[in-house]
Amino acid sequence: MSHIAFIGLGHMGSPMALNLVKAGHKLVVFDLVPAAINTLVDAGASAAASAQAAVKGADIVISMLPASKHVEGLYLGEAGLLTHIAAGTLVLECSTIASESARKVAHAAQQLGIRMIDAPVSGGTGGAIAGTLTFIVGGAASDLDAAMPYLEKMGKNIFHAGAAGAGQVAKICNNMLLGVLMAGTSEALALGVANGLDPKVLSDIISKSSGRNWATELYNPWPGVMDHAPASKDYAGGFGVDLMLKDLGLAAESALHTGSSVPLGELARNLYSMHSAQGNGALDFSSILGLFKK
Ligand code: NAD
Repeated sequence: MSHIAFIGLGHMGSPMALNLVKAGHKLVVFDLVPAAINTLVDAGASAAASAQAAVKGADIVISMLPASKHVEGLYLGEAGLLTHIAAGTLVLECSTIASESARKVAHAAQQLGIRMIDAPVSGGTGGAIAGTLTFIVGGAASDLDAAMPYLEKMGKNIFHAGAAGAGQVAKICNNMLLGVLMAGTSEALALGVANGLDPKVLSDIISKSSGRNWATELYNPWPGVMDHAPASKDYAGGFGVDLMLKDLGLAAESALHTGSSVPLGELARNLYSMHSAQGNGALDFSSILGLFKK
């Protein structure tokens, strides 16, 4: 079995790493927050004292960090992690970051003979726990083939979007739509409840009608409608408002670069920005319901 270094054990990284341990892989893990490592160590992974120590002797390196600045900060620069990774190693960078950052890091890796794919995910923490994530990959087809045995332990649907950075472009398009859908779903549910409907009944109706979407089917924003959804757990866990805000910012940047119009994405970005400014940045993004609920 391969020796895998896994860096970044947050809401997503931790369950993804656990699935690799369960599949029998030898994992060496690292996170800046020591407490994040404990679950993995209890499951049989080894803790490293630094990212540099984690990648020593690794065949595969996986990272799952918040944003572009964390990924560039980790891998690039004179003392960056790339200088500690052996040539030929395969790096699966799973964070959602700017496509330009993904290309920059992949290019720097290539210069050192390190193979790298961008492999952002969709499916939320539920998908990470169940091992049913969607991976959206950018990079060489041969590197994706080599990554497949690992991706398959963490995900169910694996797509090749194109060359380096293409995974991030596709991911950002998806998340812009998700941000719009969650805000729209919240608005519709709040309207129905204000007019006397039960949120569960309305959600059941929408789920079997033309307004159905991922939020109504799997991630309902109204507390108590779905026991497993963050809305029913005071919006704890899940996908943070500030992470959604970051993705909508990436979509806006991509639109600027290509002269594309994204009016709904921009409106959603403003809504999440307002919601974050009201002190909700760390809550799950479905808490956007608070802007609409009476
Ligand atoms: P998170 O904030 O819960 O976890 C990120 C982890 O990275 C933290 O534990 C942090 O301490 C660690 N970290 C940061 N810099 C580090 C460094 N230099 N070295 C080691 N560890 C470092 O975030 P998350 O929810 O797990 O999301 C991770 C990525 O996945 C983000 O890019 C996000 O946009 C994306 N994503 C999240 C979800 C979701 O539902 N949470 C879904 C799809 C994609």
